[in-house]
Amino acid sequence: MKKNQVILLDAGNMSDGQNPLIDITSLAKVYRVTRSITQERVWIKALDGVDLSIWKGETLGVVGESGCGKSTLGRLVVLLDRPTTGRIAFKGKDVLGFKGETLKAFRRQVQIVFQDPASSLNPRKTVGETLREPLLIHGLGSMEEREEKVRQILKNVGLPPDYTRRFPHELSGGQRQRVCIARALILAPELIVADEPVSNLDVSIQAQILNLLKDLRDNFNLTYIFISHDLKVVRFMSDRVAVMYGGRVVEVAPSAILYENPRHPYTQLLLMAIPTGRGCDKKARLKKQTFSTAEEILHDGCTFAPRCAERKESCMTARPKLLEVEAGHWVACHISS
Ligand code: ADP
Ligand code: MG
Repeated sequence: MKKNQVILLDAGNMSDGQNPLIDITSLAKVYRVTRSITQERVWIKALDGVDLSIWKGETLGVVGESGCGKSTLGRLVVLLDRPTTGRIAFKGKDVLGFKGETLKAFRRQVQIVFQDPASSLNPRKTVGETLREPLLIHGLGSMEEREEKVRQILKNVGLPPDYTRRFPHELSGGQRQRVCIARALILAPELIVADEPVSNLDVSIQAQILNLLKDLRDNFNLTYIFISHDLKVVRFMSDRVAVMYGGRVVEVAPSAILYENPRHPYTQLLLMAIPTGRGCDKKARLKKQTFSTAEEILHDGCTFAPRCAERKESCMTARPKLLEVEAGHWVACHISS
């Protein structure tokens, strides 16, 4: 069976089961960085062999703590950056081989929304100019058609049409993120990567933006890769969830299964860390774990092993494969699979 294939989910929303919309194979990204104090040049494995399939119409949540490679994954999928090794297929075609017109068409079909709407909008451009720009770049429509499209898209994201004349500084954080979503939407993409889209917003605004994203997904038949460090937000948004640790996917499952029956010790830790308002004993059935953060991941085994209270010898020496432990539920762990 194809990796990470979902068979438990509501099939009405999913693809025909043939090709995934996006198929990621052994994706890796290595950065060369200079440490600030020692000036030592080191390699950082931001992504270390990720395999994932994303099916049309679904929201795949990607969760994990800061630095685990979520944004790198998102940037690679939309070709804002190129992988060091690995393959990304879009509807079965090799994205990394796209050039000229095929590349341009791909750029229309996949879009990204970033965490910080303030810095991702040009402060010198009005909302109208920002929204018109993608249409102009792709040579779409007459002037009147473009104006109509801009007005329509503003309506779709819940902003009045006369906001075309406003500058970003005249908008609230939530309104700015609506503009960013409108800009991503205006080319009628199939896939949107949303990278922490509500993390910079007030809690009171977050729910509005999340609900907007959900409505847009249903109305425009969108597929999302929804990246967040916030497990509650990911649960609210996602059909399936991929948990990342140290540049790798350690667990993938339909949301309901992942949150009820987490199998990877790291996922279990993450879930225990969710504040419940009723103390921290909600997940009392989970075994207590300890961190040993001082240890570096300098071995060939599981990236989580140095922090894992349940590790055995093989965890430090052999990389665990992502294996299907029940239908649609994949875990990379020597202990849990
Ligand atoms: P996340 O989004 O999960 O917080 P990132 O994908 O941003 O994680 O980063 C993963 C790792 O790669 C981190 O250690 C980060 O410092 C490093 N990294 C990301 N982008 C770059 C870059 N452009 N140059 C060097 N290192 C990078
Ligand atoms: Mg990030």
